[in-house]
Amino acid sequence: MQEVKNIKNILENIDKDHFHLLTEIGKISKEINQKSYLVGGMVRDLLLGFDNLDIDIVVENNAALLADTLVKKFPNCELSAKHDRFHTAKVIFHINGKKIPVDLATTREETYDNEKLAPLPEVTISELKKDLIRRDFTINALAVSLLPNNFGEIVDLFNGLDDLRNKKIKILHEKSFIDDPTRMIRAIRFAAKLNFEIEEKTQAFLKEVIESKQFDNLIEKIRGDRVKIEIRYLFNLPTIENAIKIFFESGVYRMVNTELAYKEVLKNRIKKAEEILWDHLDDIAEKWIIYLGLTVCDLTNSQKESVFINLHLPSGEIKTIKDGLKAGEKLQEKNIDSIKTFQVLKNHSIESIIIAKSLTQNNLIDEYINKTSKIKLNITGQDLIKLGVPQGKQVGEILDKILELKINNPEMSKEDEEEEAKKLILDLR
Ligand code: ATP
Repeated sequence: MQEVKNIKNILENIDKDHFHLLTEIGKISKEINQKSYLVGGMVRDLLLGFDNLDIDIVVENNAALLADTLVKKFPNCELSAKHDRFHTAKVIFHINGKKIPVDLATTREETYDNEKLAPLPEVTISELKKDLIRRDFTINALAVSLLPNNFGEIVDLFNGLDDLRNKKIKILHEKSFIDDPTRMIRAIRFAAKLNFEIEEKTQAFLKEVIESKQFDNLIEKIRGDRVKIEIRYLFNLPTIENAIKIFFESGVYRMVNTELAYKEVLKNRIKKAEEILWDHLDDIAEKWIIYLGLTVCDLTNSQKESVFINLHLPSGEIKTIKDGLKAGEKLQEKNIDSIKTFQVLKNHSIESIIIAKSLTQNNLIDEYINKTSKIKLNITGQDLIKLGVPQGKQVGEILDKILELKINNPEMSKEDEEEEAKKLILDLR
C-alpha cells in the first residue's frame, strides 16, 4: 500500500450513488456547522482495496441535527432510528431502487458529561480523538473528512495507516481487552480475515487477559449476545480453517468453553464441512452454526448446554446443532440404509444435515440430499382423510410410510400410492 493522506480518488471510484451521498452529507454538514467523518470498516477496507459500502459517520457534535437536516432536505431520505441516549441516528436513502443505510454517531467519549457544543478547532480534534480512541484497533480508528474543503482527507491519530501497511492488528490502549473482552474475538477475526498479525504487545495483553482466566466460560461477564455476534462473524469467514486455528491457539476459545479442544479430528471435520459446503453455497445463509456445532461436538451434554446459554443461542439454532450431532451419531451405526437415513434426516435443516455428514463416512447422506429428499408424494393428507384416516398424527405417519415405499420405488403413481394407503389403513384397524 502506498503512503496516502487523502482517499478522494478512491471514493470517486466506489458506487456512484454512494459517492454522491457522501459528498452531499459533507455539504449539508458544512451548512449546519457540523463536521462529519467517515469511519470504521469502510475506510479500512477501501484503503486495502476491498469493497465495503457500510457508511458509518461520526459527527462533531450533533448527529441528530445532521440526521434531521438530511431528512428535511432530501425527500428520498427517511429517519430509521434515533437514540437520544446514545446520540446516534440512522437514516436510509432510497436511490435508484437501492436502499442505502447511513449510521450517524455524535463524537463521544464513554461518558457524555463534558460534551460541548460548538467547540473551538483544537477542541474539535480532541473531540474526534475521544471518539476514535474508544474504538477497537488502530486500523479501525481512521477517519476521513467529508467536508467540501478537505473531502477525503485522512485523520490518522493512532498510526493506523502504518499498521494497515504492516498488516498489524493493534489495540489503542492497554486496558482495551479488559474494557471489552469481545475485542479479543474481534482481534482474531480481523487477523484471520485480513491475514494480518496481531501486533506483539497486543498479543501479550491478549495472552495476559486470557491467562488471568477472568473471562473463562464467560459466565455472566458479558451481557447480551455480543459474544455470539462476534463468534458468528468469526465462524462465517471464508478462511474458516485459519479462523478456528487462531481461535484455539490464541486461547480465545476459553471464553466460550474451557473444555473445547483443537484435535486432529476437529480439523478433519471442519475441512470436510468446508468441502461439503461448496456444493450448497446457495442454500445456506449462515455457515457459522455448522462450524460451531462441530466445534462443541465432543463436549458433554451439560457443557454444550452451558455454551448455548453463554452464547444466548435461540431455540432454533440450538435445535439445528443438536439435530445435526444426534443424526451424525445415529448414522454411524451399522445396518444403515436409505430408509433409515431418510428417517433420521427427514425434517432436518440443511445445516443439521451437513453437521451430520461432516461427522460420518455415510454416503447415503448424499443420496438423501440429492435424491431421497427430493422425492415427493402425489397423495396428500387431505386424500388420506377422505379415505377415512382421522385427522391427527396418523396422517403424517401414513404419509411417511408411503414415502419410504416410494424411496425404494420412485416410479409409484398416485394410484399406487392410494393402494398402499388403503393397505396401511386396513392394518391400522
Ligand atoms: P466488518 O465490515 O468486517 O464487519 P467493521 O469494522 O465494519 O468490519 P463492525 O463490527 O461493523 O466491523 O464495527 C464498525 C466499527 O465500529 C469498527 O470498525 C470499530 O471502529 C468499531 N467497533 C465495533 N465493535 C467495537 C468494539 N467492540 N470496541 C471498539 N470499537 C468497536
